[in-house]
Amino acid sequence: MNEKSEIRNHISKILVVGAGIGGQSVAIGLKKAGFEVDIVEIHKEFNVYGVGIIQQANALRALDAIDVADEAMRRGSPYGKVKLCLAHGVQIGEAGTPPIGRFPSHNGISRRILHDVLFEEAQKVGLKYRMGVTVETIDNQPDVANVTFSDGTSGSYDIVIAADGVNSKVRKLIFGEFKTSYVGLSVWRYAFKRPAGLDTGYIFFNKKHKLGVIPMTADLCYIFVNSAEGDNPMIPEDQLVDKLKAYMSAYPIPMVQELIPQVTDAKLVNYRTLETLKMPAPWYKNRVVVLGDAAHTTIPQLGSGAALAIEDAVVLIEELQKEGSVEEIFERYMKRRHDRCKMVVEVSETLGAWELLEYTDQPLPEGANMGMLMGKTGMALTQEI
Ligand SMILES: Cc1cc2nc3c(=O)[nH]c(=O)nc-3n(C[C@H](O)[C@H](O)[C@H](O)COP(=O)(O)OP(=O)(O)OC[C@H]3O[C@@H](n4cnc5c(N)ncnc54)[C@H](O)[C@@H]3O)c2cc1C
Repeated sequence: MNEKSEIRNHISKILVVGAGIGGQSVAIGLKKAGFEVDIVEIHKEFNVYGVGIIQQANALRALDAIDVADEAMRRGSPYGKVKLCLAHGVQIGEAGTPPIGRFPSHNGISRRILHDVLFEEAQKVGLKYRMGVTVETIDNQPDVANVTFSDGTSGSYDIVIAADGVNSKVRKLIFGEFKTSYVGLSVWRYAFKRPAGLDTGYIFFNKKHKLGVIPMTADLCYIFVNSAEGDNPMIPEDQLVDKLKAYMSAYPIPMVQELIPQVTDAKLVNYRTLETLKMPAPWYKNRVVVLGDAAHTTIPQLGSGAALAIEDAVVLIEELQKEGSVEEIFERYMKRRHDRCKMVVEVSETLGAWELLEYTDQPLPEGANMGMLMGKTGMALTQEI
């Protein structure tokens, strides 16, 4: 990102709603490019949960555009392709985005650390966060967005960027109600001390669920389990520890077995159902534009949702520095992003649908090959954005 890049259009004052991965990324890049940026975050304090996030090579390439890829790799754990294995450990394949230039296939990182890396970069460029604040109303005119905030203040902006996640309030205010779809799967996550032999990411396949062991830092890793919990997927808190331990017990590999005693605290079991959402085009109206999960929420079967949010940010930053009307800029942004995001959401849905069939003892469609589909999509994600 060129700090001194000349702003050739008439946009100067920008509001970013949501200080998650996408919101912080876009705000940092825009601030560096010389725009006046306000960022509001609904939570009074950040409370980022401690499990990890997989950053594939394309996510690192996008983070590099806002100058934080090296710090993310330094504080995370770069690794190669993910080894795909049967439940007892025999390797049957590998998956992941191929390396892109100096960026490895993957960087595992704690979500908290990624958040810190972004936040620290934001401080360096003088970005001021308004915590515990959200938008109340947006009067979205063709030439300006007049916004009132929950703290009683108001402001006029050249554009408003909705980076407020899957349940985006801005999206609802401007575009109406969109509902997520539950895909029938759940994910369990827990952070662990990193076992000595963990040399890369692993996914182990059982007939009823799958388990991943993902490096997070030099000393930490996390485990995820994907399962199908049936029609009533809400699990009472007092069952979380025992259920996660039972899932892990089904993988007779020392690396997994030795971690089981560390699962002790239900509050640290991050359990959630998996939801998906594709906002139909256009992702913009007058002065409001949507990015990240607010526009496209993917289930994590490709570990790429955050990568898409960061790439959205980079493309929007680039387009905002080019000439054109706001509508032309937003249209170019959406054109560059739409099909790629749709591909990730839909391939992830397909992978999830195949998992669900397996976990519920139903036959897979002819030719279904998870490793091959993951490999093909990983390759597609290396293409320039
Ligand atoms: C189980 C699971 C595992 C995943 N694993 C991976 C992975 O390994 N790799 C990967 O790349 N992606 C992964 N993802 C996806 C990734 O977490 C998301 O795609 C990413 O967080 C989206 O970033 P975002 O900034 O769009 O939204 P968010 O990260 O959700 O950020 C939205 C921000 O907006 C704030 N906010 C919400 N409402 C308002 C409001 N009204 N006003 C102001 N602020 C508001 C929120 O508090 C939050 O800070 C995973 C997702 C899930 C569910």
